[in-house]
Amino acid sequence: MNYFSTRSGAPAVSSAQAIVAGLAPDGGLYLPERFPQVSLQQLQALVEMDYEGRAVEILSLFLTDFSRQELADAVAAAYSREKFAPPQVAPVVSLDDRTHVLELFHGPTCAFKDFALQLLPHLLTASLRKTGCDKTAVILVATSGDTGKAALEGFADVAGTKICVFYPDGGTSNMQRLQMTTQKGDNVDVLSVAGNFDNAQTGVKRIFTDRPLEEELAGKGFLLSSANSINWGRLAPQIVYYFSAYCELVKAGKISLGQRINICVPTGNFGNILAAYYAKHCGLPVGRLICASNQNNVLTDFLTTGVYDRNRAFYLTTSPSMDILISSNLERLLYLLCGRDWAKLKGYMDQLSSQGRYQVDAAILEQLQAEFAAGYADDTTTAQTIHQVWERNGYLCDTHTAVAMHVLEEYVKKTGDNTPALVSSTASPFKFADAVLPAAFGAQAKGDDFDRLAQLAEASGLAAPQELMGLKSLPERFTQVVPPDGMKQAVRAWLLENQ
Ligand SMILES: *Cc1c(COP(=O)(O)O)cnc(C)c1O
Repeated sequence: MNYFSTRSGAPAVSSAQAIVAGLAPDGGLYLPERFPQVSLQQLQALVEMDYEGRAVEILSLFLTDFSRQELADAVAAAYSREKFAPPQVAPVVSLDDRTHVLELFHGPTCAFKDFALQLLPHLLTASLRKTGCDKTAVILVATSGDTGKAALEGFADVAGTKICVFYPDGGTSNMQRLQMTTQKGDNVDVLSVAGNFDNAQTGVKRIFTDRPLEEELAGKGFLLSSANSINWGRLAPQIVYYFSAYCELVKAGKISLGQRINICVPTGNFGNILAAYYAKHCGLPVGRLICASNQNNVLTDFLTTGVYDRNRAFYLTTSPSMDILISSNLERLLYLLCGRDWAKLKGYMDQLSSQGRYQVDAAILEQLQAEFAAGYADDTTTAQTIHQVWERNGYLCDTHTAVAMHVLEEYVKKTGDNTPALVSSTASPFKFADAVLPAAFGAQAKGDDFDRLAQLAEASGLAAPQELMGLKSLPERFTQVVPPDGMKQAVRAWLLENQ
């Protein structure tokens, strides 16, 4: 399977090359040349397998330059019972005959990015070997919270890698900060930047484009790399869980093999829902893909009107991981809908960067609307939904999942489409206890973060995840604060002075 960039007809690369590069040299995103097909018979075989087995099968369709053994090793390291407690890894919980929740939050950071970031380090180190690179991959991440921790957990103590995460001083929640500063691992570093998230991100970008530094580090055996969400090595692992969820539904007798399901996804950067689109086009029986947004509803408008317009107010919501106005993975979908006409796609992307806006033509809008539905929920509706789902179904969902629950309900009301639906649940309710407590129980959050976890556990009768509760007793390992213009020096010192 070859990979092409969305922005030029540049020669194809292998999956290992695409994973090492992340972004294509022309600024585009890599995409496999076609959709590999999974027949119903193959799907039946997947039903009999465990998550790890399903992952190897699906990944081998896309990562054809990896041996099955390499994939099996990577998958075993990523999805062990130590990292994901449930035997199904991504369990499916049925709320009623029609509504099923895919729980993607049983990993080390209690949110769905673990699925990609637990596997990526192993795919990356294997890819480096395949491309003949013997350097240590140094991952630099600027984070406003969740991605940094998920990347730290994924890369910690993975041989052949080091990871350094920068977060804005005072710009994360206290719990997010603690998750990072208590991180274990001999190959990790966590630095607080005296500035905001943009300062941290700009600083990282500057390090990535510093040629003299790149050469100096290369001379010492280091290669800078990113764990960015546009890396194909982050998207591929997400396709797996949609296949797995379908298999779980068949296995539980909730659907019959070949029966179609709809999938509703709380969406920010468009990675998770794009993985569902890929699963569908590889042969998974899927009807509608329902794109759920919070008040930053740029995607709802786009899928309704064909106009993508980021020139609008930006809201900080109770579902912060979806507070995004530029959904970078949408580029991959548009490229496909342009019939892989990269020049046409590039026209839209150029308009997006110069005017913050583009309008797709009628043919593309028609294709979009044939497969996608869209809707959004503001914070008030999200809170009401958390309450309703708790009262009605005895199920506690986080704010992101609640956005999807609401949008699915509205979709069913509007269309009468009673196809069984899978809701992608992207975070544990405990991760957003401050918003979930008042919404579900009318209780005001009290005390420190750990008191709130205990409060939510008490009110719901659920156990607070050990991944969060356990932070209380861990020592903080990282306390250094650097100025934005001191980030490069800090990376140099960390890599070169402790050798
Ligand atoms: C990242 C994230 C999302 C958005 O997923 P995308 O792939 O960016 O669309 C939704 N919910 C949670 C909890 C997340 O962390």
